[in-house]
Amino acid sequence: MSTGLSVNEPKGDRARHLRLLSAFILHPKSIIFVLSLFVACFVALTGAGNWFDESMLRFRGAIRDRPASGQLHVIEIDAKSIAALSNWPWPRRAHAQLVDQLKRAKVSTIAFDVDFSAPSNKVDDATFAAALAAFDGSVILPTFAQAESTQSKARAENLPIASLREHAMLGSVNVRPDRDGMMRNYEFGTITENTPRPSIGALLANVPGKVGETFRIDTSIDPHSIPHHSFIDVLNGSVSSAELAGKSVIIGATAIELGDRYAIPRHGILPGVFVQAMAAETLMGGTQNASFGFMPMLILASLFGAFILKVRRTSAQQYCLVASTMIILLCPLLAESSGIGTFEIAPAIAALAALSIMLTGIRILDEFRRTTLFDQQTGLPNERSLIRTARAMPELVVVAVRLKQFEQLTAILTATQRKQLIERIVDRLSLVFDRQKIFSAAQGTMVIPVPNCDMDAFIEQVEGMAAIFRSPFELDGRSVVVKIAFGIARGTSGSIRQLIGFASFSAARADEEGHHWNLHNDLVTDEAERAQLLLTDLDAALSNGDIYVVFQPKWSFAEARICGSEALVRWRHPVLGPVGPDQFIPILESNGRLEELTLHVLDKSIIELNRWASHDLEIGTAINISAPLFADVDFVAIMLDRIRNAGVPAQFITFEITESATIKSAQQTIEALSAVRLLGARISIDDYGTGQSTLSYLKAFPVDEIKIDQSFVTRMMASQSDQILVRSTIELAHELGFKVVAEGVEDGECFAALSAYNCDTAQGWHVGKPIVADEFFALIVNGSNLPLAQAS
Ligand code: C2E
Ligand code: CA
Ligand code: CA
Repeated sequence: MSTGLSVNEPKGDRARHLRLLSAFILHPKSIIFVLSLFVACFVALTGAGNWFDESMLRFRGAIRDRPASGQLHVIEIDAKSIAALSNWPWPRRAHAQLVDQLKRAKVSTIAFDVDFSAPSNKVDDATFAAALAAFDGSVILPTFAQAESTQSKARAENLPIASLREHAMLGSVNVRPDRDGMMRNYEFGTITENTPRPSIGALLANVPGKVGETFRIDTSIDPHSIPHHSFIDVLNGSVSSAELAGKSVIIGATAIELGDRYAIPRHGILPGVFVQAMAAETLMGGTQNASFGFMPMLILASLFGAFILKVRRTSAQQYCLVASTMIILLCPLLAESSGIGTFEIAPAIAALAALSIMLTGIRILDEFRRTTLFDQQTGLPNERSLIRTARAMPELVVVAVRLKQFEQLTAILTATQRKQLIERIVDRLSLVFDRQKIFSAAQGTMVIPVPNCDMDAFIEQVEGMAAIFRSPFELDGRSVVVKIAFGIARGTSGSIRQLIGFASFSAARADEEGHHWNLHNDLVTDEAERAQLLLTDLDAALSNGDIYVVFQPKWSFAEARICGSEALVRWRHPVLGPVGPDQFIPILESNGRLEELTLHVLDKSIIELNRWASHDLEIGTAINISAPLFADVDFVAIMLDRIRNAGVPAQFITFEITESATIKSAQQTIEALSAVRLLGARISIDDYGTGQSTLSYLKAFPVDEIKIDQSFVTRMMASQSDQILVRSTIELAHELGFKVVAEGVEDGECFAALSAYNCDTAQGWHVGKPIVADEFFALIVNGSNLPLAQAS
């Protein structure tokens, strides 16, 4: 991309160009592209991908596996020949005889990978020289470099003795394994003591090349397929002349005791003479195996990468990625088969892999964002996004747009029509509201946060909005009329959830009453409305967790530990916020819905009791049962059944009932109480002291404990009369065989006094506030969390 900046450019243009340039550089796709190149460079520079290239090379070698040309034979100085002839080194007349044999067999070229740099006896040397001179074809004798001494780094060239040299070409047999000891590359020629020499491999293949220039040994050739014969067999004439006629031979040691072995990729350790033969075969096969490094494939991968980033569809992107990877994997195979050379591909593959990983990561993030911040049905941002947006608006107005009969409407529309409808509705709404701020809320309602404004003018606008919606929406092959109702609520972003609830509720009301809009004006605080709202939402709240149970710890003075708990119900209402049990229990009770709630609390308590029991924690819980429910024999039977079926130890369950329960319908209550105790559960008289009954009256009932009402306990330290009442109640209760719980123990002073009065159990903020089940579990498992444990 060119920025096209020029000196005469007007300022505005330059700024625009700079903006475009920085947008291009900072574009996520550019960043991904650069990062994948960075990964590629890292792989290339650190050699982190060498293992991969090496394995691929081996793999390609295996695919292209082919036999040697057969033009070059190896004559092995092997163990068998050494055993047959005298000890190594042999008298040179043996080599002379071999040359004579090869001459008779009409061999075209003879190469020796044997050290002739020192004279042997005169006769033998002369015989060998004569044999070489008499040979019709070409003879190649080896030179090799050797360190001058162990101290010096300089290398001296070892040449065959002069009398032999006269009749031969000289070829270097120096090889240079890589640092890991592997022979991968072979030189066309070497230079020692300033004298350049062609390598023996290059001479045998008759392919010239520059000194120092290397080629890769073609490991697709199977070294075992190079025809080879034992020196002694050739000497004895057991190898037929026809087999050797017109061929080149290389003679060298393969016997283990003569050393000279190298490892080559794919084929492992080979005698030096076979490495020379493999090099010659490589060149004869026409494969120069030039190595082009990693750059060409990396450039290709970058082009592919740039293209892939342009592709929009995910599936197409994936296909392109797979195709690009395949092409890059195949390129070196084709290049090697056609003799062009070889490429390293690790950096290119690393770039594509990095690209693929980043694209997948972005896709996962997008998907995550889409599912958490967008409504699946409408595709609009959801309430969670709205809450984020609203954070920036300290005071605001929330408008809820209720689409009347939305459910029925969506049921008759196709998916495309539904999508179109939402888009069109958003189009119309955006005539008045900021398009970016239209969110989706529950049940066909859209919510829009608007900065706080003049309400009268705003309501006028909303009225106008209703008019805009009068004309039908033309969808794909269908025309529909959508009636809308607005609900408006004003407040601060701190109570945004509540505002959304108020606005939605107001919209629902407007819809019910047939108005265009409804302004939230504390109508929900109106008792009747509130009760209605709670009753409507009860089922949902029980199942979605808006109604939940907290546990308040009870302290045993005798055991100095938390010995139990009281299950207390909570309701986090989406519109009304937290509603206390004192508020909703009477409503549920007077509407006959308290059974469901009580069973819910029982079920949740049973779950916790089982959990505690499974950890060997001897801790029970008290469940509050409203007085009229306790007088209902059928209901009590259902509860007891549940406890029986759940298999919890019943002695860990205490039912708290208020005094009044015992006074009304005494007979039924006694039956229920007896049934409860028969099962093993306990009975506690709650809020003792607030009613009319005396302890001696209670004695007639099957009761285990009394709970002194918190009003007396909290006032106890300040009021002499309360103190006396508490103290005497404890004494009398004990005399009558009741245990005593004091509730509302708010401080250490009160706690200490109760302990002194021999009270059995304390409950209150000083021991601990009601907490959710998991927190309570953590508290009892890890008793050290307990402030009292340290205090007492
Ligand atoms: P309650 O049975 O007398 O429960 C004790 C109330 O005192 C709880 O209020 C508790 O949070 C509060 N409290 C605990 N310690 C202290 C303290 O040290 N100082 C003060 N000032 N208060 C303390 P909560 O949870 O609001 O419950 C109110 C009432 O609602 C309960 O009075 C109980 O009658 C009823 N309730 C709660 N949960 C249930 C339930 O699951 N079923 C039924 N039927 N009634 C319930
Ligand atoms: Ca209670
Ligand atoms: Ca109480």
